[in-house]
Amino acid sequence: MAVPQNRVTRSKRNMRRAHDSLVAANPAECPNCGELKRPHHVCSACGHYDSREIVASVVDASLDDDAA
Ligand SMILES: [Zn+2]
Repeated sequence: MAVPQNRVTRSKRNMRRAHDSLVAANPAECPNCGELKRPHHVCSACGHYDSREIVASVVDASLDDDAA
């Protein structure tokens, strides 16, 4: 197993970690429903992309139909 030959100093460790911070998402407003959505992604609220419905909305779906 590889073993580090030298201890990394606090300075070098912190310099390496200087680029590790997460960048906040840049949400854009959905032109159909106004909900905030990820850019270049289908809107998770209404299923629209580029002013077209891509994912059918599941407002009326009922899961109890098969149980009876
Ligand atoms: Zn939407």
